[in-house]
Amino acid sequence: MNIAMTPKALDLEEVARISSQDLAGMVRKIDDERIYAQDIMHAYGRAGAYGSHIGGMEGAVDLSNAILSMASASEYCLSTGFCVWCQDTLAWYIASSDNDVLKAEVLPKVAAGQALGGTGMSNPMKAMGEIEPMRLKGVRVEGGYKVKGLLPWVSNLVDDGYFGSMFHVEVEGQDAPKRVMAIFHAAWEGIKLQLDHEFVAMGGTATCNVQCRDVFVPDAYLLGDPADAFIQRIRPGFTLLQCGMAAGMIKSCIDLMTQVEKPLGHINQYLEKQPSDIQADYDALVGEVMELSKTPYDLSDAFYLRVLKARLWGGELAVEAAHWAQLHCGARGYVSGGAAQRRLREAYFIAIVTPATKHLRMLIAQTEAAIAAA
Ligand SMILES: Cc1cc2nc3c(=O)[nH]c(=O)nc-3n(C[C@H](O)[C@H](O)[C@H](O)COP(=O)(O)OP(=O)(O)OC[C@H]3O[C@@H](n4cnc5c(N)ncnc54)[C@H](O)[C@@H]3O)c2cc1C
Repeated sequence: MNIAMTPKALDLEEVARISSQDLAGMVRKIDDERIYAQDIMHAYGRAGAYGSHIGGMEGAVDLSNAILSMASASEYCLSTGFCVWCQDTLAWYIASSDNDVLKAEVLPKVAAGQALGGTGMSNPMKAMGEIEPMRLKGVRVEGGYKVKGLLPWVSNLVDDGYFGSMFHVEVEGQDAPKRVMAIFHAAWEGIKLQLDHEFVAMGGTATCNVQCRDVFVPDAYLLGDPADAFIQRIRPGFTLLQCGMAAGMIKSCIDLMTQVEKPLGHINQYLEKQPSDIQADYDALVGEVMELSKTPYDLSDAFYLRVLKARLWGGELAVEAAHWAQLHCGARGYVSGGAAQRRLREAYFIAIVTPATKHLRMLIAQTEAAIAAA
């Protein structure tokens, strides 16, 4: 890592303070009024939350502190926890690339939380799995590509923000188009952002429709051309980092159940799942995630399979924990300002964000088949 890239050291105590004081005080406003907690996103950056996982391919990289920071935000607000994932993933793309220009000019600002952004990779990932067609198309021009198309959702995105995405390029004489991955700057000519908040939860994510009209993407912003090997490199980290959202959500649901033990324990004891049951699953999940976090650049199918299974487990346990939190809290969790119903609405996002539960199950089946055939 060069000097320009050296991120500020992570202060986990400060991250926890921002979450439990500054963010906790805003969660209802974020949920009700769909407010993007931009100041909090900058504050996490100053505390070093986006810079602990970007040592690059050469160094010993560990994702655990990035995941714990994301969990800290998600414990209070999943909109903000997801925005932390978006920011971490943008940094992850650049740090994992061989692009020295992006590493010198964009990565330090992203790691410090000065520049915000995310990733428009849901559609490309689904396109790679032949679930839906690729939405961005590019043609080669002098010094780069001209790209057009529409990405329906890119979160944590502001007018001068950045996002990583992928486009198809038709190549003469080849049946399949080439995949090219790049960082886009939202301020470039031809890019138009439109906020989209029409969700049952997660309205505080600065999620935008991104329209690209003949956007010039210079060679200096390419991450992989062709992108296939680069995708192999980033996919375990991309997927594993999302477990931070699950961990924070599950922990908060255990807390909600524990908080009502005194007034409602005499009747809640008849419910099938108790906080101690979810706690045991949570401990096992976090143990597995922390172990996997130590080697995110392991490119083997066996490692990727473990990551996919941990991510699936996280999504399913988050939904289950939120379900039991709602049942334990009863009516006090079901009122419009109740935490349990908010957590339940938010938890489903972990199970539907790409790779969604169904997509994960497909990838697990395919990876298991590849391992069996090897
Ligand atoms: C709050 C929020 C934030 C998101 N942020 C990002 C992000 O930052 N980056 C990113 O790449 N993706 C983002 N996504 C997309 C997300 O990752 C998933 O791709 C999405 O939730 C759908 O995934 P799925 O696999 O369940 O697909 P499915 O929902 O099963 O299928 C998706 C298909 O349905 C179509 N579709 C979508 N909405 C409708 C509708 N109302 N009516 C009919 N068809 C529809 C889509 O065009 C797409 O082809 C976000 C989604 C949400 C809800």
